[in-house]
Amino acid sequence: MIENLTAAMAAALTAYLDRIQGEVAAFAGRLADLSTYPFMVMPIHRLYWYYLFGFLAIAFVLYLRRRPAGEEFTIKRFLRFWLPKSVYRHRSTLLDLKFYLFNGVFVEVAFVTVLIGSFFGFAEVFEAAFRALWSVGGPGEGPGLTATPGAELAYMIAIILAADLGFFIGHYLTHKVPLLWEFHKVHHSAAVLNPLTNYRFHPVDRIPLGLFMGLLTGLVKGGFGFAYPGGIAEMTAVNVGVLLAFNLSANLRHSHIWLSYGWHLGHVLSSPAQHQIHHGSEPRHIDKNFGLMFSLWDWIAGTLYVPRAREEIRFGLSGREHEEYDSLWRLYSLPFVKAAAVLRGRPAPAARSERPRRLEGQEG
Ligand SMILES: [Zn+2]
Ligand SMILES: [Zn+2]
Repeated sequence: MIENLTAAMAAALTAYLDRIQGEVAAFAGRLADLSTYPFMVMPIHRLYWYYLFGFLAIAFVLYLRRRPAGEEFTIKRFLRFWLPKSVYRHRSTLLDLKFYLFNGVFVEVAFVTVLIGSFFGFAEVFEAAFRALWSVGGPGEGPGLTATPGAELAYMIAIILAADLGFFIGHYLTHKVPLLWEFHKVHHSAAVLNPLTNYRFHPVDRIPLGLFMGLLTGLVKGGFGFAYPGGIAEMTAVNVGVLLAFNLSANLRHSHIWLSYGWHLGHVLSSPAQHQIHHGSEPRHIDKNFGLMFSLWDWIAGTLYVPRAREEIRFGLSGREHEEYDSLWRLYSLPFVKAAAVLRGRPAPAARSERPRRLEGQEG
């Protein structure tokens, strides 16, 4: 009796451990998938120490080059250049901080979930569609190519371009579709820019972005999966290289520090200055520079604005609408209220002009 019981318990325990082992292996497999995941080129985890170090190092070089002639270097003077009170004590920055602490994780989860889900989902759909189309034309399921290092490199470059174009399309639509714009306004309601503004996004605003990035990269994955049935390796080094190179200056995009790549390069790569112009509320700055890494898409679409010289930019929304987004609650709720007004065919409520406030910093 006891022997039977012991044997039954041992069998149950073995089955249980087997199951756990299987689940752990499956989970490790998923993690391994993610570690070589092409979307490592994405600007997630913008506050990773390396990117913040890039923000510090580039600002340091710019300070040394721009300080008034003869000004002696002191740490204090550099800090005043890098982190001026007008930015870090601004109401908008404090709200960015609150929003980041409360909302940062939701924004990333919403974005990454949509992105990963649509990437793998669309990849399967496109691969099956390509096979079906091929079989209509003749025998076999595809060209049956064998992967070469050149093909792997082409795959990575195609993924990076597709991710960036997907970002451009998603971002363009969040400005041009009135319903989506109400959610994207949260990001543009920042009156000063700082690295935390990277996380000033309504979670709903991340859905079209993840969807279009997933759609286009899924198309690339599906196409290569169809052409190379034996599989095609992802060149993680290419991804990581692009990620590190891009993110070194990425935190300057959301900062007060001007860094332009010049007239010619500005037509291909999107400089931090070009994204600062994207945040400008003057008519000439509105709906310009949607690109993330490459400004090529803006150039093609006619939305490129490459500055010839340094410009004064008034960050925020037209009029004084950004002043309405003045609390955690309002950052979450106002987009729904205004989106409902758009759906009802009524214009969004006008800015509250009875509460005039300074746009400038709240120094001292
Ligand atoms: Zn925008
Ligand atoms: Zn921005």
